[in-house]
Amino acid sequence: MGLIVQKFGGSSVADADKIRNVSRIITETYRRGHSVVAVLSAQGDTTDDLIEKAKEINPNASRREMDMLLSTGEQISCSLCAMAIEAMGYPVISLTGWQAGMRTNSNYSNARISRINTERIQNELDKKSIVIVTGFQGINKYDDITTLGRGGSDTSAVALAAALHADLCQIYTDVDGVYTADPRHVKGARKLEEITFDEMLELATLGAQVLHNRSVEMAKRYNVNLEVISSFSGNPGTKVKEVVKKMEKTHVSGVAKDKDIARLALVGLADQPGIAFKIFSLLAKEKVNVDIILQSIGRGESKDISFTVAKGDKELAKKVLEDNKEYLGFDHIDVNDEIAKVSIVGAGMINNPGVAAKMFEALYNGGINIHMISTSEIKVSVLVDVADADRAVQVIHDKFFSEING
Ligand code: ASP
Ligand code: MG
Repeated sequence: MGLIVQKFGGSSVADADKIRNVSRIITETYRRGHSVVAVLSAQGDTTDDLIEKAKEINPNASRREMDMLLSTGEQISCSLCAMAIEAMGYPVISLTGWQAGMRTNSNYSNARISRINTERIQNELDKKSIVIVTGFQGINKYDDITTLGRGGSDTSAVALAAALHADLCQIYTDVDGVYTADPRHVKGARKLEEITFDEMLELATLGAQVLHNRSVEMAKRYNVNLEVISSFSGNPGTKVKEVVKKMEKTHVSGVAKDKDIARLALVGLADQPGIAFKIFSLLAKEKVNVDIILQSIGRGESKDISFTVAKGDKELAKKVLEDNKEYLGFDHIDVNDEIAKVSIVGAGMINNPGVAAKMFEALYNGGINIHMISTSEIKVSVLVDVADADRAVQVIHDKFFSEING
């Protein structure tokens, strides 16, 4: 008997039948004697539809008003789910983020949770109610509604699990768990029984869309017992934890792909100290997040520096650098957004040489050219042409996982 936080994504609550299905999962858990807090996303594509609606009225709407609008999606799914559970004869109450005590900072549309005042939820649980909470949102110090960024309901759920000291946080979705690669696009992708927080964080950040990366960060920090599981299949899910029992034979847990990037190259920079500092502090001042960085060897007097940013930051980054052309002293900027980042992740690669070589061999055999490479203790990322990205994921996945799939 314990407290379980269950989060249901948009596809799990997309229509009336699916809301009934979710209500059955929640009430089953409750009937087994657990206290249940359910966190819901907006139904199906509701959030995207609301964004479209806003654009029709004002394409430059303030982020405060956008949050006011987008938060309504979750309010709809939560109230409907509470009604379904009422109809099944169980005690239930739905709460918005602010009713549930979710306090955030004031960074509208991408707010961070600052604390959760759990008193109200606790009172409802003490009364033996099932509590349904809107994901993705909270309230700031001005009592304005804020949202946590796209996909933020996972983070709401993990934060609630941490604040309530829940025994388990289950993230229900439309796939069976965390896969070695996206099962919709990669042949032979298979479900992992377990994955470490660090690997999951890398995969989430590198483009795997199962979990919001901030939710993984938070689960690691508060050691939340986390599980990714299907709302539909009834199969066991994937456990996300600090240490996993047995490492995979290949030392690699997954292959991820991110097409949302652009590469900028500053060509013809002076080969002297301080250049990298100047470039990246200018970008940092504009809050442009830089990912992979590559500096060429100086040829005589000059060198090149290239780096990647999110596609959405491409224009800003270019402008900042162009505005400082004299100060930085480069010849020209070359921009390419027809690229993708393909990465392998695995805690097992720290102590096993040859993992990167195996990845490069797979790409070589596939005739795929690598533009940039970056590595950390538990990941290797390469930049390839966007046209090659899907095939790159497949050949790398085949190389690492075919013997296991056998
Ligand atoms: N409804 C929000 C979104 O679509 C939050 C979420 O689903 O996690 O991004
Ligand atoms: Mg999601």
